[in-house]
Amino acid sequence: MSRELERALDLVTEIRDFPEPGVLFRDLTPLFGDADAFRHVIDALGEAVGEGVDRLAAVEARGFVLAAALGYARGLGVALVRKPGKLPNVAGRVDYELEYGTATLELPMGSVNKGERVAIVDDVLATGGTVAATAELLASAGAEVTGVTVVLELTELDGRSRLGSVPVHALRKV
Ligand code: AMP
Repeated sequence: MSRELERALDLVTEIRDFPEPGVLFRDLTPLFGDADAFRHVIDALGEAVGEGVDRLAAVEARGFVLAAALGYARGLGVALVRKPGKLPNVAGRVDYELEYGTATLELPMGSVNKGERVAIVDDVLATGGTVAATAELLASAGAEVTGVTVVLELTELDGRSRLGSVPVHALRKV
């Protein structure tokens, strides 16, 4: 890993007991706010996504920031997976378990085509519930999920075990 990328990832800060007691929140705000760091992270994500990808998919909100820049850099469109109630036309909806409670994600109508090879991008892979739900939505729309690319993987939570054989690329594992 380049020194510039190391420096960029070192900008991520840790906040104890947010949003709930016992959670160590990884805050990418300083990374997003630093032009050089952001560029190095986007370049590294672009390499990690690899070739043979037709489209990116991301979940709001931080995933959108990464996927928008990455899509521009790699010449790929982005499927914007939303929290419920935001979309006029929904192609698919999935409910999934969070550490505490449940959540729902929706895929916009017309955002992926059958047979497309789609890479999922997010900031943090924690329990894996969010990306597993996104992969399920994409698969039910007929897309093939080529992989999951994240900035940080929280290895203790073993999110990748929720993804079966889908390859996971993380710029840093913590
Ligand atoms: P997951 O448990 O993998 O479904 O995580 C859900 C989403 O919450 C991810 O997209 C992250 O953006 C965010 N997230 C979960 N845990 C953390 C954490 N410890 N620090 C920062 N973001 C987190």
